[in-house]
Amino acid sequence: MSEVRVRFAPSPTGPLHMGGVRTALYNYLFARKNNGTFILRIEDTDQTRFVEGAEDYIIDSLKWCGIKIDEGIYEGGSYGPYRQSDRKAIYRQYADMLVSSGDAYYAFDTPEELETMRGESEKDGNTFIYNAAIRDKMKNSLSLEETVWKKKLEDGEPYVIRYRMPENEEISFEDLIRGHIVVNSSTLDDKVLYKSDGMPTYHLAHLVDDHLMKISHVIRGEEWLPSLPLHIMLYRSFKWNPPLFAHLPLLLKPDGKGKLSKRDGDKMGFPVFPLFWPYGETAKGYREEGYYPDAFVNMIALLGWNPGTEQEIFSMDQLIESFSIERVGKSGSRFDPEKAKWFNHQYLQKKENDVLAMEFREFLRARGYQCDIVRIESLIALVKERVSFVKEIWDQTDFFFRAPESYDQDVIKKRWKEETPAQLMELRSVLDSCEEFTAEATELTVKSWIEKKGYNMGVIMNAFRLVVVGASRGPHMFDIIGWIGKDETLRRIDNGISVIGKK
Ligand code: GLU
Repeated sequence: MSEVRVRFAPSPTGPLHMGGVRTALYNYLFARKNNGTFILRIEDTDQTRFVEGAEDYIIDSLKWCGIKIDEGIYEGGSYGPYRQSDRKAIYRQYADMLVSSGDAYYAFDTPEELETMRGESEKDGNTFIYNAAIRDKMKNSLSLEETVWKKKLEDGEPYVIRYRMPENEEISFEDLIRGHIVVNSSTLDDKVLYKSDGMPTYHLAHLVDDHLMKISHVIRGEEWLPSLPLHIMLYRSFKWNPPLFAHLPLLLKPDGKGKLSKRDGDKMGFPVFPLFWPYGETAKGYREEGYYPDAFVNMIALLGWNPGTEQEIFSMDQLIESFSIERVGKSGSRFDPEKAKWFNHQYLQKKENDVLAMEFREFLRARGYQCDIVRIESLIALVKERVSFVKEIWDQTDFFFRAPESYDQDVIKKRWKEETPAQLMELRSVLDSCEEFTAEATELTVKSWIEKKGYNMGVIMNAFRLVVVGASRGPHMFDIIGWIGKDETLRRIDNGISVIGKK
């Protein structure tokens, strides 16, 4: 294979959807696997859709995912500039080239005129297509006398440049994922290549850039497949060799019906964007929801690509090693929010306890709790297997940090017996006499006391848990009291007895 050069070419029109991140990822994996170059090109020719902050968001998202840009607006490179608005001066000459060769033409129809025609066609039950069948009836440099259209140009009348799509020609091409495709040119319209605002459209700009930037493979979303016949025609008109194409399948909603959208995420409570989007209508991000970037990357990598084995956990290096376009499927991939959590669970389990302790310490600090890192680490060991996110450690351990403010009524009803307060008072003095207040020592002492007295172990332990935790949850009781210490344990027993009291 000749030098592999791929690009991710987002338009900065808002936050980058996770489908877009997947496109970037597949390009990146493909580049790394083939010792190629990964380029980030910002496609901002549509000024009406430009959104402040979106460009930085895209770059920050890639960075968070560990997708490293080789050539781009900040990295530079030999084929820059890498932002289309900075390349504005380049495009016009290419549009002109096509006009001179007869493959494109000037069109003077105003937006209002086009709207009227569209409306009339619809009234007759037809769709209006600006193509070979009607272009002679329109106002353009093919239908008008040369003197007339030249005069219009001289007078500065607004115009666009349209591609002259030939009539009834078979356009055939290959897609690396979809195979051989044939489209009849009569189904296509004369697309605008250059707009009256002096900017190229996507079709012209991306194609010129892909050519000038020596892009070898265009890997992009399926939504661009319908435009591919036009692009193939443009390559032909320019007499340029086209790159190879791979159109990735859509990311589907969890129920598999249609494209995954922000609304699905809002409805079901999962993010569809990598990072929190802070502008206008804000949106959740995987990062802020507590996902690890490697878990997120692993998860999206498998939405559309399958390794051909049972393996599910892949580091970035393993993805690079295993990735191939041949193993990307044609049909859409259903996004499963539960599976996303599962991936994070797996990655969290692999983290060392001291690393998790540091992450959880930040969480605690933000909530005003200070705690020794070694003590936090011992807590992590108790609950790690039950959590998928660092923030869930709090749900499992809040009672280590604060005494219960209330007691679960259902548990009281079920577990608080008449003899409970007296038994807990006895337990209190048994614990008070423990010299060494570790989990092991207290367990031994308490259990032998229960046995000696012939008490019911379950009755005592359930009530004990209720006063210490406030509910019937949490890890091993003696681990809890070993951690919170003697004074706090005795205080909680006292408080529980006085609040729940005689029921
Ligand atoms: N700017 C286009 C987009 O936003 C790029 C499509 C392509 O990769 O050619 O998706």
